[in-house]
Amino acid sequence: MFAEYSLHERLLKAVNKLGFEQPTEVQQQVIPAALSGKDLLASAETGSGKTAAYLLPLLQRMVAQDAPNSGTRALILLPTRELARQVLKHFSDLAGFTRIKAGLITGGVEFKFQRAELRKNPEVVIATPGRLLEHLSANSLDLADLEMLVLDEADRMLDMGFADDVMTIADACSSVRQTLLLSATLSPKRMGQVIDKVLRDPVRLLLSGARDQHAQIAQQIVLADDIKHKERLLRRLLEIEQPDKVVVFSNTRAGADKVGSLLRFHGYRAGVLHGDLTQDERNRIMQLMRQGGLQILVATDVAARGLDIKGVNLVINFDMARSGDEHVHRVGRTGRAGEEGLAISLISAREWNLMASVERYLRIKFERRDVPGLEGKYKGPEKLKASGKAVRSGKRKKPDPRKAKPVEKGKQRHRDRKQIGKRRTPATPVEQRLGDGFAPLKRKKTDDSEP
Ligand code: AMP
Repeated sequence: MFAEYSLHERLLKAVNKLGFEQPTEVQQQVIPAALSGKDLLASAETGSGKTAAYLLPLLQRMVAQDAPNSGTRALILLPTRELARQVLKHFSDLAGFTRIKAGLITGGVEFKFQRAELRKNPEVVIATPGRLLEHLSANSLDLADLEMLVLDEADRMLDMGFADDVMTIADACSSVRQTLLLSATLSPKRMGQVIDKVLRDPVRLLLSGARDQHAQIAQQIVLADDIKHKERLLRRLLEIEQPDKVVVFSNTRAGADKVGSLLRFHGYRAGVLHGDLTQDERNRIMQLMRQGGLQILVATDVAARGLDIKGVNLVINFDMARSGDEHVHRVGRTGRAGEEGLAISLISAREWNLMASVERYLRIKFERRDVPGLEGKYKGPEKLKASGKAVRSGKRKKPDPRKAKPVEKGKQRHRDRKQIGKRRTPATPVEQRLGDGFAPLKRKKTDDSEP
């Protein structure tokens, strides 16, 4: 019961109004730890109730102690604009019976307008790192009094290239603050530097790793010959499943646009969400999707990350996700708050090994599904390695060094250089994408990231 925690009655009233009866597992662990005032490092996924898990202790601090002359008291950093808006909505619900106000600072909104908002001195600022840093540089906000810093979806922020921004922002914050860092993964290799720099002697809560998520979501694969085949499969699967709401994932913006147009052409209420759209367009699409004006959202990973859309009972990966964690994020758009969901990945021959890596990483086996009448020619690899990956047919012969033509000295050096370069690069496109040990993709800020 939420009443067990020493939360202010106004917060309990809001929790009640939201219809939350029991704290989720993540909330049971995070709320008391955060209320203790210590720094916190928690591995928690979206869909676990993690937002309220940090918002309630944050609000409790603001409500319990008035600080009318203080600058910004709490800062929540998130990787994407949509997530920031989502957290603001959750904040408004939970703070509904208090006077605590939050300001939203993300890219895609006029700087001057935000500066005026910040002049009103909201206790809490919810922001994406790039734009917040611009405001810090322009002196539109002061973090010297900051009591609480929350880094939500921290691994994603780092993947998107925000590590330096996050550390610069943390440096500008009061050093006596409490810091909470929430992340789907807490890999020391990926996160070590930021964790060491930003947190002080944190309580560590390993709640639910990315790998053991989503037991209530059925995961299937359908083999596909090519894009055209995938398009037919997608439409047929929608007919068979008759889902209320669907999220279709594409690896590229152009791909998302194409699938969106195809679905609209066939009469579906489909919207597209990716980083090329203006913020107004993105807001409109999300609003339509939430209110039921759209049935299908076709999205790229970054744009749809962490989005909480009620009633999504089907996720379709038109392209296979490029890493295990990315796959978990996608699949987590369905089966939210314990509901059941279905995730179907369309797998072409080129994506088989990637799919096998995801299976291995998550230690699950995707159920193989045939779509009657649309069976393709591709039936999976003829031979499999122990890892589940395809054995490449027609092994390339190593060139016989004795048969090599003699080359001039200068050219030899050039060849040697090329050879050294080759050895360092992984052999297959899949390995290139995954690196060794299934490392996440490093995104450049120019990809689908945003300020
Ligand atoms: P989050 O992981 O924070 O994105 O939350 C996922 C969903 O679970 C949101 O729609 C929340 O409103 C909902 N939620 C959070 N806490 C609870 C709770 N204790 N009981 C029921 N639903 C919850």
